[in-house]
Amino acid sequence: MTNNQYVEEILQLIETISESAKVKIEDLKKYLGDTEIDDILKQLIEDETILIDSTNNISLTVKGKKEASEIIRRHRLAERLLFDVLDVKNEEKAEKQACDFEHILDKEVTDNICTLLGHPKFCPDGKPIPPGECCSQGRKHISRIVSPLSALSVGEKGKIAYMLSGEHQRLDRLFSMGLLPGTTVRIHQKTPSLVICFEETTLAMDDEIAHDIFVRKI
Ligand SMILES: [Zn+2]
Ligand SMILES: [Zn+2]
Repeated sequence: MTNNQYVEEILQLIETISESAKVKIEDLKKYLGDTEIDDILKQLIEDETILIDSTNNISLTVKGKKEASEIIRRHRLAERLLFDVLDVKNEEKAEKQACDFEHILDKEVTDNICTLLGHPKFCPDGKPIPPGECCSQGRKHISRIVSPLSALSVGEKGKIAYMLSGEHQRLDRLFSMGLLPGTTVRIHQKTPSLVICFEETTLAMDDEIAHDIFVRKI
């Protein structure tokens, strides 16, 4: 687990335990092992996401509660997605995968999943799912997550999600110039020909290739 994932697990755990009991460091150690927990708790106090009182009870600050509720929302929506759409009915498997999902879903994808599922209020085991912006807006359609680079307008930016590799040689050339998944690209001009900017590079590109590069708008 990365440090960030560990932090997310801890915040989620504090919030879940505190629904029914006081939270002690020992409780967290029991669930997570005590490898680096002291360091991480120190970090969380500095970040003002948790408080530890004189009797060693741990609680979340307003900021910590907000973060925890976002993580719980991702986790429980991932459970619903696995259970309802992907038909993973094995509880142990679903739980493990929901735990993996909760760390990789960003806000946009989370709201898309929520909308796709009709803004569910409860996870499969009956725990409440904290609502998001999409729920209060009653959103009915999901926004397109990725589109071809060629569909962006001048001045718009996208982060490369993936590239279709029909034309290996040309893609190899782009790779070697640093145009890789994860790179942020801005459309500089579209006529008379497409020109893109990324990092320190300005590059003219065939429309054909721009059709095969898929970006997530940012
Ligand atoms: Zn659940
Ligand atoms: Zn929603």
